[in-house]
Amino acid sequence: MSFLLTAGLETHIELGTESKLFCSCSASFGAKPNTLCCPVCMGHPGTLPSVNRQAVCYAVMAGLALNCKISSVSRMVRKNYFYPDLPKAYQISQLSEPLCYDGYLELASGKRIRINRIQLEEDAGKLIHKENEIYVDYNRCGVPLIEIVSEPDFESIAQAREYIEKLRIIMRYIGISDCRMQEGSMRFDVNVSVRAEGEEKLGTRTEIKNMNSVSNMAKAMEYEYSRQCKILQEGGRVEQLTLRFDEATAATIPMRSKEDAHDYKFFSEPDLPPIVLSDEEIEEISRNMPMLPDKKFRSYVDNFGISKADADQLSKYRRVSEFFDKVKEGVQSPSFAASLIISRIFAIFETENEKEDFNIKITPEQFCELVKMTERGGISKNLAKTTLDKMLISGKSASAYISEEDAKKLTEEELNVLCKRTIEENTSAVSDYKNGKEKALMALLGAVMRYSKGKADPVFTTEKLKEILRD
Ligand code: ZN
Ligand code: MN
Repeated sequence: MSFLLTAGLETHIELGTESKLFCSCSASFGAKPNTLCCPVCMGHPGTLPSVNRQAVCYAVMAGLALNCKISSVSRMVRKNYFYPDLPKAYQISQLSEPLCYDGYLELASGKRIRINRIQLEEDAGKLIHKENEIYVDYNRCGVPLIEIVSEPDFESIAQAREYIEKLRIIMRYIGISDCRMQEGSMRFDVNVSVRAEGEEKLGTRTEIKNMNSVSNMAKAMEYEYSRQCKILQEGGRVEQLTLRFDEATAATIPMRSKEDAHDYKFFSEPDLPPIVLSDEEIEEISRNMPMLPDKKFRSYVDNFGISKADADQLSKYRRVSEFFDKVKEGVQSPSFAASLIISRIFAIFETENEKEDFNIKITPEQFCELVKMTERGGISKNLAKTTLDKMLISGKSASAYISEEDAKKLTEEELNVLCKRTIEENTSAVSDYKNGKEKALMALLGAVMRYSKGKADPVFTTEKLKEILRD
């Protein structure tokens, strides 16, 4: 019997605001433990929280980017539980009236993963385990988070991977979070169930909490899928459980009692008024957002003739696409400009982060100038590539490497002269060619390219050489 997988994802993303959600403490990562705390984020009696408007704005941006409806009135609630990383003994979160709801994220196949809601909430502190001791760092208490809750729309691990990758790109693109999984600013809970093929009703689900890498999430889903299939095959019943993924054994294991206690005794937060957003405010947030990667991708392919593979690379990184947007207006062949960026500029970067930072020494104007030289036919595409490589190292303009004379187009007469000179000076290659060695022509072509400083067009030159040798 074969079994179908169904999964849903809850993604926590830390918002990149300067200060925390309810106080003015810095929300930055990596400071000395317990140096970014105050009576408000520590929940001392008599203190009052007030909502960080920038965090609300970022959460709305996330909602708009994921095609959500935005609530004009949303409310905060208290989720009560005791745990050492939570000095207030409750988390301020949202429940039935979240900031954003009813959205979706579209995968490359066109399949839409529905977003149930996006809620605004605060992060807890962090426990640090050292040998037999546990330390607690409260710096993270009160850092703003959004929790993006999907519907159980995933039918495979590949879909979940794609969703996360895309979500990460979008959130970084709109600039609301760095989504650094290794620093915990993007974390996932995944719920998994299986059912026999043909069965309509979803199986009992288990939830695996708090993973901070895509590969762990994939392994956990894989493990859970097999575990549940095995239980069903043997005629057993899957128990509803909260699990964690153990990296060492690559297995899911039931969690400590904290997370088993589902009685959080939610009640509405008495210290905070509802978050109210006018249509004008939502409108303004929307106006200030950049065009999203999907839309850019379409426009690059449909309006600028860029190949899908290149358009995907260009639209995925905000700074790259902004660079390209400046270039594409000034040149005749945006697709050549695109391929130069991907083949030469991306080649100098080793990591995804470097591509994203797109820290290069040349300006879009300098890049445009080089592309235009190629368009006028003065320099070959090969010369443009090697020149670009030099420009990227020095930060100098193309004119530093290509003189006016070089940039002039080679006339047919000039090409003729170069080809004849080549044939005179390379007698052995010529006789090889005449004796049937087709490859010898490559040597001749290479010589013409050298004499012309790369200006000769290879296809045209080959024709020309053959023509002269035929006579
Ligand atoms: Zn504080
Ligand atoms: Mn949460």
